[in-house]
Amino acid sequence: MDVGFIGLGTMGASMAANLQKAGHRLTVFDLRREAAEAHLAAGATWADSAKEVAAASEVIFTSLPGPPEVEAIALGPDGILAGIRPDAAYFDLSTNSRAVVQKINAAFAEKGAHMLDSPVSGGPRGAATGKLALWVGGDKGAFERFRPVLDAIGDQPRYVGPAGQATVAKLVHNCAGYAVNAALAEAFTMGVKAGVEPLALFEAIRQGALGRRRTFDALIDQFLPDSYDPPAFALRLAHKDVSLAVALGREVGVPMRLCNLTLEEMTEALNRGWADRDSRVALELQKERAGVKIAIEPDRLKKSLAADTTTAAEPGRR
Ligand code: NAD
Repeated sequence: MDVGFIGLGTMGASMAANLQKAGHRLTVFDLRREAAEAHLAAGATWADSAKEVAAASEVIFTSLPGPPEVEAIALGPDGILAGIRPDAAYFDLSTNSRAVVQKINAAFAEKGAHMLDSPVSGGPRGAATGKLALWVGGDKGAFERFRPVLDAIGDQPRYVGPAGQATVAKLVHNCAGYAVNAALAEAFTMGVKAGVEPLALFEAIRQGALGRRRTFDALIDQFLPDSYDPPAFALRLAHKDVSLAVALGREVGVPMRLCNLTLEEMTEALNRGWADRDSRVALELQKERAGVKIAIEPDRLKKSLAADTTTAAEPGRR
């Protein structure tokens, strides 16, 4: 198929490469032309605007920072809507806001085209390997028609519901994840301050009932080794996701105490100048407040994980 791809960043570059590997003809655009070098070398065509991408494509994808960028690329004068072919479909893989998704979806529908929100989950590793959840909201017929293309990006393309509902699922997922991380960091720093060596503590709790659900593995890549650069997921983007989620909570009248606290942590971390570090860097604030240093040498951590033979907890056991 003729596929358009806009936004070749941490996630987009790998997803676009996987579309090429699956045999699709790609037309690409990004603000940074150098981001497209590998794709052009593999046969992709460069376009000078989103409008040009759309005019050349049966299906178009975007993977952009957030709502303002997506709205400009979708609806701007040189945007996708200005160039889209009748009956073509546009899937936004970014984490967007529900309101912006619904606005774009309505504008596309007026022109007889489809816009579907299709946020992903699995991080840069998932984008590269294809072990990536892909949640889709919008016209179900378009989802089914373009399913073979979606299969080249994720192993779990899943139709969630009408336009905006996949975005809601994504915001629920990310907001919950950051709130869980904040709780883990709080309890963990208490354990370290009470005198337990960090790796011994991690090995012990990972073996408990909650640990066997692999909840604590959220600490492995950044918090335990004290490693936040380069980012797997930038703080500025995660802050956007949690902001969108708590705003949606206010919109629908749901108190979200822990999630709002988590957002305050992330705002404080942004104010430290950490916007482009990995989002989990907000957990460093808790290490500071606790007065502990945790930085497990990566090789020790790797050996510990390889040696672990703990299996999953029996369902229902606490
Ligand atoms: P990124 O900042 O690495 O990539 C964004 C890309 O978009 C960059 O290449 C940038 O040059 C380009 N861009 C920005 N504005 C543009 C514009 N107006 N026109 C054309 N190109 C433009 O971000 P990322 O980490 O790849 O994330 C992309 C989206 O996916 C975000 O919405 C993010 O929330 C979401 N997401 C990220 C992860 C992750 O782990 N990194 C996981 C799931 C979802």
